[in-house]
Amino acid sequence: KKFKPGSVFFRLEKNKPGMLLPRKGNVTTPIDVQRKQLPIYQARTRLVNELRQLHNAIVIGETGSGKTTQIPQYLFETGIGRQGLIAITQPRRVAAISLAARVSEEKRTQIGKLVGYTVRFEDVTSPETKLKFMTDGMLLREAIGDPMLLRYTVVVLDEAHERTVHTDVLFGVVKSAQRRRRELNKIPLKVIVMSATMDVDLFSEYFNKSPVLYLEGRQHPIQIYYTKQPQSDYLQAALVSVFQIHQEAPQSHDILVFMTGQEEIEALARTCRDIAKHLPDSCGPMVVIPLYASLPPAQQLRVFQPAPKGCRKVILATNIAETSVTISGIKFVIDTGMVKAKRFNPDSGLEVLAVQRVSKAQAWQRAGRAGREDAGFCYRLYTEQEFDNFTPMTVPEIQRCNLAGVMLQLMALGIPDVMNFDFMSKPSPEAVRSAVDHLELLGAVERKDGQVLLTALGKRMASFPLEPRYAKTILLSPDFSCSEEILSIVSLLSVDTVLYNPPARRDEVLAARKKFTSSEGDHMTLLNVYRAFKKVGGNKEWCRENFVNSRNMGLVKDVQAQLREICLKLNLKLESCGADTGNVRRCLAHGMFINAAELQPDGSYLALDTHQAVAIHPSSVLFQAKPAYVVFNELLYTSRCYMRDLCLVDADWLLDAAPEYFGRKLHLSRS
Ligand code: ADP
Ligand code: MG
Repeated sequence: KKFKPGSVFFRLEKNKPGMLLPRKGNVTTPIDVQRKQLPIYQARTRLVNELRQLHNAIVIGETGSGKTTQIPQYLFETGIGRQGLIAITQPRRVAAISLAARVSEEKRTQIGKLVGYTVRFEDVTSPETKLKFMTDGMLLREAIGDPMLLRYTVVVLDEAHERTVHTDVLFGVVKSAQRRRRELNKIPLKVIVMSATMDVDLFSEYFNKSPVLYLEGRQHPIQIYYTKQPQSDYLQAALVSVFQIHQEAPQSHDILVFMTGQEEIEALARTCRDIAKHLPDSCGPMVVIPLYASLPPAQQLRVFQPAPKGCRKVILATNIAETSVTISGIKFVIDTGMVKAKRFNPDSGLEVLAVQRVSKAQAWQRAGRAGREDAGFCYRLYTEQEFDNFTPMTVPEIQRCNLAGVMLQLMALGIPDVMNFDFMSKPSPEAVRSAVDHLELLGAVERKDGQVLLTALGKRMASFPLEPRYAKTILLSPDFSCSEEILSIVSLLSVDTVLYNPPARRDEVLAARKKFTSSEGDHMTLLNVYRAFKKVGGNKEWCRENFVNSRNMGLVKDVQAQLREICLKLNLKLESCGADTGNVRRCLAHGMFINAAELQPDGSYLALDTHQAVAIHPSSVLFQAKPAYVVFNELLYTSRCYMRDLCLVDADWLLDAAPEYFGRKLHLSRS
């Protein structure tokens, strides 16, 4: 491993004599003792001394060394940044919430007091809050109102190696805030970038050659195994590996399996539990715990609890477990080598969520999870040759996503020339052009004398913490007298799944769902569920009977209240169209016309915008109906390119929404 010249090292010794060793099993160590057992504790004084002097610092340390939970507390305890707030950004809302909960527990305070969090549509902070965990997207939104981030004295950009599009834009925003505060003699802004990977040259270069502080962690040796042959079915391969380990390894060794998403995780969890039930007694019991972003928080916390004595813990996780959360007791990692991530084709303007190969850097991070407490094993479900062909680093998201939303935000931040924004990694000119096209179609920007300008509509759109097309749909809704319905639908789509589908009770689910199912599509079906939910006053019993996630439904109400507030500020007229749901669909067609698809004579669909072949996802209520025209929310690429969340629309409405665009591009004709 190469280190940058001038770096500062903190060597964290392994099991230093006299140190209390972490105890395993069910015995819980007091939380302040746990804090002192973390590797980073040995470096506390030196680390604080460095951070006190520096305006920019980059901190590198193994996942689990204590960076995220401890450094903000060290800063606070030693009075660094006392004049304002300390922000700690996270790419994932799950991580922001669970880390804030952990730190406030360590500080023995109630969450929302000294330690709080802010994620989209949820603000758990108070005037007392000093340590604020937040998603990178939320800090970016705050910057729109306060470009110098004057409330903050320290910004910690955590998980920087993930390079989400929001973190990347924040790099530029905090750098400029720092410079402007210096020029205006304001209280300085300290920026600390934290990463779990060694590739920091870019970060250091970008932040004025800032020093790198290395926390040399406790990494124990890990034996890596590859498959002999490429695996055509990584899920099957994962299943076989889990049970092979389960039959051979001591019961106290836990297993962590990296997979791609909720559906396959739930399916594999079920299969594992079934098989485990029928194993001979010589195999001990096994507890299978899923971990993915949309899991309710209470269930997420289960992964941190030790398994009952003599029982093996098997965690099936998405890439959340790569670096943002640390789970103890893992001895075996099974890496499918796959991840679900955004992929963008600037030529077609198409952004899809696709299951794809991880990068080498990600594969190493995954393997590393097995060596936190002792030597471990990593089973890679791919061959060594396949691994050699993985890309070395994950491409920053900014270079592989639709930039329309970010561009709108940058323009609202008053950054006119997005192409010349101080990006750490520039997006491609084609991607920028494609985003401008997208925003122009929505009427958010206009091109004038070679410049791209935000329109009045664009400014209004930027007031919503939503993707541009949803913001546009809301702004259009008064024309169709259906704002209440559109606000409900957008809120329902902004919250992780509100419907709950336990596979074991599939028939019951189908029967319960029937009364809400609308032949007009998924949006209308969701709206029906929500209307019924409100009618019974959010009754928990009703939710249970109807397989509705009552917590997420509660969240939908909060989101709607917040969106309504923004609408009132913008003087939008909020009306309900009652039973006339045709208006709602008309409005959706006008707001989402870029995501429209047409049925072909052979029964397949073509996306009207890109001419890409797409199919209706089996989870949609329109799966069998196959209407002539639909608009959809997103594309998911697995074995084929699936549209998810669809709404039945008329061709005429699409033509009315964008006559020139459809006339020119698609030869849509009126019926
Ligand atoms: P890093 O940021 O360096 O990856 P963290 O500060 O996130 O490390 O985690 C340090 C340790 O704190 C973890 O190893 C884990 O033992 C403990 N920890 C973090 N979050 C939780 C939680 N929600 N519940 C229990 N322990 C936790
Ligand atoms: Mg961390």
